[in-house]
Amino acid sequence: MINQGYDLGYVNENEVFLDYRKIARQYNSYYAKIINQCIICYHYEDCLQCFFQIDNFTQEYKCTGFSNRENFSKYLGDIISTIEENPQIIKKIMEKVVIK
Ligand code: SF4
Repeated sequence: MINQGYDLGYVNENEVFLDYRKIARQYNSYYAKIINQCIICYHYEDCLQCFFQIDNFTQEYKCTGFSNRENFSKYLGDIISTIEENPQIIKKIMEKVVIK
């Protein structure tokens, strides 16, 4: 759920109004606050952190999804262990996961 502090426009009886300049400014401000963590984060290609779920998103925010090399190695190891222990999930992954 996204709270109203992150509104990007409004809807009335006749129209949906999205302020694209505001949206661009807002997103750029979010990225600016976190970019220094993202550029060294091992999850940068599969980031699961939703900006809209961050409370108190300030310049000092420490991303809870941030992963260094050690944590990311453990993350991958856990995935491999799970697959080894449950080989039947490979079929589901092959059928349902799309990698772009
Ligand atoms: S998990 Fe956090 S630090 Fe890592 S890429 Fe995503 S937002 Fe950036």
